[in-house]
Amino acid sequence: MIPCPECNALGHKVLESRYQPKLKAKRRRCVCKACGFRFTTQEKVWTGEHLSVVPAEPAPLSTAARLDQIEARLEALIAAKVRVSTQSAPEPTAVSVPIERLGLRTVRAYNTLKRAGVHTVAQLLSLTPADLLRIKRFGVTSLTDVVMALEQLGLELPRERESA
Ligand SMILES: [Zn+2]
Repeated sequence: MIPCPECNALGHKVLESRYQPKLKAKRRRCVCKACGFRFTTQEKVWTGEHLSVVPAEPAPLSTAARLDQIEARLEALIAAKVRVSTQSAPEPTAVSVPIERLGLRTVRAYNTLKRAGVHTVAQLLSLTPADLLRIKRFGVTSLTDVVMALEQLGLELPRERESA
């Protein structure tokens, strides 16, 4: 017994039953005894033939497709290796970078640093803001200039002098 598709109740009355040769099925026009909903059922002989249907095996790859696969794998391997080597590469050191490269906005900051013997970014990074302000004619404006220029490079002056 098939439950009513509308109210799920079991129990219907067959209004009409007809065998349809084209479908090799018997169709029944039914009415639900509970709610009066009308629906059609279909009865068919099951031969189990669908069980013998074997899923089609994937077609073997053509040589070109296999070469593409190998190439893609090699590219992935090379990319992975490149990533590893960039990770282990040492960061560029600021040691020999001249302060000209900082792109200081004021000539005074640059000149006073040069006169004080500060020629490289590394030298600059060994000085605290207080050290810099002790340089003759190097004021807060110059300090701001230096701090901002270093910031552009992701660098900053030490707050305290390294005790080495
Ligand atoms: Zn019903």
